[in-house]
Amino acid sequence: MDIQAELISIGNELLSGQTLNTHGRDLGEALSALGLQLSRDTTIPDSIPIIGKAVEEAFDRVNLVFVSGGLGPTIDDITRDALAKLFGQKVIVDQPTVEHLKGWYEQRDRTMTIAATRQAQVLDNAHVLFNSVGAAPGQRIETADGKTLFVLPGPPNEFNAILKEEIIPWLRIRYAEIKPRYVRFVKTKGIGESDIVTILENADFQPLEVELGFYPGQGRVKIRISAEAENKAKVEEVEQTLSKLLADHLDLFE
Ligand code: AMP
Ligand code: MG
Repeated sequence: MDIQAELISIGNELLSGQTLNTHGRDLGEALSALGLQLSRDTTIPDSIPIIGKAVEEAFDRVNLVFVSGGLGPTIDDITRDALAKLFGQKVIVDQPTVEHLKGWYEQRDRTMTIAATRQAQVLDNAHVLFNSVGAAPGQRIETADGKTLFVLPGPPNEFNAILKEEIIPWLRIRYAEIKPRYVRFVKTKGIGESDIVTILENADFQPLEVELGFYPGQGRVKIRISAEAENKAKVEEVEQTLSKLLADHLDLFE
């Protein structure tokens, strides 16, 4: 079974070059370890109509959608409102989150302001996902047609904490029948991608049932060999063949 997910990163700062968008890398890595596939990573501005349209279009393609950013207390944090509008849901204040935030502010000798309370707002039908390292919780929303939306805060430490502590365990159960792909790497240095391809073409190298990815950078090329778990032996066979064909160029110390 091929389960695909999409990520929609929201924030003007991601588009204006102020902030490097790291969520695609982190989510892609976490999902592929489970055997799920991040099939699209879109970055959009803080705009209610654009957010609504992007989420709607993602759900036309896939069953799992992740939305990040725009859950803070400031005026540009409009993700909840955009989603509430799209799903025809109310935004409510999640009382357990308010209590948690009060404690958090008290510990730091700060008073919780009305603006800070805004971070405890969630969609009426959301399952609230505890944020152990920040203020705004994550949310899991089941759509009317049985699809799942995850809403996550923008700061990478919060995004990753909720992903690891709340979402991955849930996905493991929800998609228990999915097996992670088996992945091996062959690493080369001092040889370009086109020279590698020439060596492989000359040897008539055309592996079946395994997927190859070439990742060049800084004089090195990393070749990723992957397949469904039951094709583990084929992956290892390809790894050996590539290691032989590229024996003079292997990066053994990386
Ligand atoms: P927000 O939740 O949109 O208020 O974002 C809060 C903070 O998280 C801002 O400093 C952003 O720059 C940062 N942030 C938001 N989205 C991302 C992302 N996709 N990758 C890295 N940082 C992000
Ligand atoms: Mg933002």
